[in-house]
Amino acid sequence: MVYQRHTGRALCRECFIRDVLERVKAEVATHKMFTPGNRLMLALSGGKDSFVLLDVMLQLHNPSRMGIVTIIEGIPGYNREEDIQWIKDMARDFGIDHFITSIKEYVGHSLQELVEMADEKGLDVSPCTFCGVIRRRIINEYARELGFDRVLTAHNLDDEVQTALMNMLRGDIFRLVQSHPSGPTLSRLFVRKVKPLRKIYEEEITSYAYLKGFRFQQTECPYIRFRPTLRARLREHLFRLERDSPGSMLRFLNKVDCVINEFIEEYTEFPELPRCVRCGEPTAFGRKYCILCELLMKLGLDVVPRVRIF
Ligand code: SF4
Ligand code: ZN
Repeated sequence: MVYQRHTGRALCRECFIRDVLERVKAEVATHKMFTPGNRLMLALSGGKDSFVLLDVMLQLHNPSRMGIVTIIEGIPGYNREEDIQWIKDMARDFGIDHFITSIKEYVGHSLQELVEMADEKGLDVSPCTFCGVIRRRIINEYARELGFDRVLTAHNLDDEVQTALMNMLRGDIFRLVQSHPSGPTLSRLFVRKVKPLRKIYEEEITSYAYLKGFRFQQTECPYIRFRPTLRARLREHLFRLERDSPGSMLRFLNKVDCVINEFIEEYTEFPELPRCVRCGEPTAFGRKYCILCELLMKLGLDVVPRVRIF
């Protein structure tokens, strides 16, 4: 039995798994995340979220129209070989192309090496900033260069609520709208990103993975303590809020969706993002360089990153 706190129901294994699947299907349909003909690139790093996304997608979409990209960060003591092997096996069994690449292949240095260089130069840049910026770039470039229609990530409800709140607290309405599943894609160079698990609690993802017999690695990234402070604090607050008032996060995200939908209906025209003068990839309005080029230049690296797909 699984006790589903946000509904107050105790569900047997089959009912719980079916419930998760039906909610993902509903979310995909609500936001028209993809069509049966779309080619979908799944960004899977290993771990329980990746397992659940792949397992669910194998029930919702034709595997011959899916691809997988996995990025090795290059963090000592944090290699998810077993999890990645599991993704490889699944990809082979279902005939899905699996692309494995690394931060080192993309910018010439592993994450660990970039962090050490930043330390030597006295730069105050968290490992998660390097990691997040570079991973997003690699995933988008792989999907674009290989002609995929959508990028699918395994973000769950907890991630989505944290992100929405962070954008609100920073007053960044633009990002809030952009990160919404029906939000605009602000550059022709971006492949539309969708998150089918965005209404599934992290706790439910864990239960689903266990019930399906997936034994994932419990090792945490050693850099987890460098996660942006605001996100870490919000995570703690939201955990307490959800404990005292189950279903709060889901209700909040549903409300945010309603408000942003109205906004998107009113604003049909969104401007195209400018391009970085160094690498040609999209950058924010008013910026000459993209964040990645700025980081690389601060480190004194003259590499212009570009994916090499073999
Ligand atoms: Fe990357 Fe930070 Fe996550 Fe580690 S904790 S994998 S450095 S984003
Ligand atoms: Zn750039």
